Amino acid sequence: MTGLYIHIPFCRQACHYCNFHFSTQLKHINPLVDAICTEIDQYHATTSHAPLHTIYFGGGSPSLLSPQQLHRIFEAIHRNFNTQNCVEITLEANPEDIDPIQLQQWKELGINRLSLGIQSLNNEELQWMNRAHTAEQSLQAVELCTAAGFQNLSIDLIYGSEKKSLDQWKSELQWALQCGANHLSCYALTIEEKTAFGKWAKDKKLIPPADEHAEEQFHYLSQWAAENHWEHYEISNLCKPQHRAIHNSNYWAGHPYIGIGPSAHSFDGQTRRWNVSSNHQYMHCIQNNLPVFEEEILTKSNKINEYLLTQLRTTEGAEIQQLEKLWPGFIEEKQSTIQSLQTKHQLQVTQTNLLIPSTARFLADAITVELMMD
Ligand code: SF4
Repeated sequence: MTGLYIHIPFCRQACHYCNFHFSTQLKHINPLVDAICTEIDQYHATTSHAPLHTIYFGGGSPSLLSPQQLHRIFEAIHRNFNTQNCVEITLEANPEDIDPIQLQQWKELGINRLSLGIQSLNNEELQWMNRAHTAEQSLQAVELCTAAGFQNLSIDLIYGSEKKSLDQWKSELQWALQCGANHLSCYALTIEEKTAFGKWAKDKKLIPPADEHAEEQFHYLSQWAAENHWEHYEISNLCKPQHRAIHNSNYWAGHPYIGIGPSAHSFDGQTRRWNVSSNHQYMHCIQNNLPVFEEEILTKSNKINEYLLTQLRTTEGAEIQQLEKLWPGFIEEKQSTIQSLQTKHQLQVTQTNLLIPSTARFLADAITVELMMD
């Protein structure tokens, strides 16, 4: 399974919490789309790879692209890759960009899954986060998507902020249940240093949210999923049965992926590479046929640590057989840590897997660190 990720590094405005690579200089969209098409051509010319199974347009805000710009990228993909077995083509979209004509054009391009950045249904919280849309626009966007026949619809929500009470969170999840979406991505608000919120926190204008507040909302999310027969299949991802995100699931399973665009990452099973995180530098490198990425060959410890980091966030957890393949003797070496985590009810060991029970999954990162190898 190989996935193609295309990073579209533009947004209308900077959300106060966002740590992704993007620019608000929208006048550069067109030349950057040209550079993306050239990078796809260059990638294909230099690398052998399997046919594509998934394509994911992420960002940034891919819904800012005009249908013509998207069409050019699709042309580059189709002339370079075998897309016959491509089962999932996702586009991340913001509510303010959704209209019936746009939706129809996305369908005609072959996009069959939308991921909507809704984040909150509270206008005060949306404004505080500097989102470019209102709750009313979100409600309308979801209705338009379902009316246009997008059955694979995912919604992004943020929990744990000081502006979101447990009651507000409950009502957002209640809405999500009946709005027509079959997938949810829910992220705890984190305060990153290089964001507006990070600066506010440094200047004592914002108190970072208490862990207990986010933890309470995370546990409600797990309970909500169990009661409504949704799978909470990864710490931040939930779906109706049979509707897991294929692109991201392949990434978590350690399958190869190709990343195109500024700041995008690629992985071929042995080597990880990452493109420059500057739109200007990216376009300069592509136009002049200069290397646009740095790369590293994964060491034995890199490989097992990445496997643990991604797999322990999932319901299934990490396969013991795979752990032993990546690090012969892993279970024996980590025996005392495993037993201590089991005693604290933070780890379960089945005949085949190590997994974090749902009651402890909010602490997945800290638990994983204890199992990582040097
Ligand atoms: S729209 Fe998305 S990528 Fe852009 S600034 Fe906001 S959160 Fe970040």
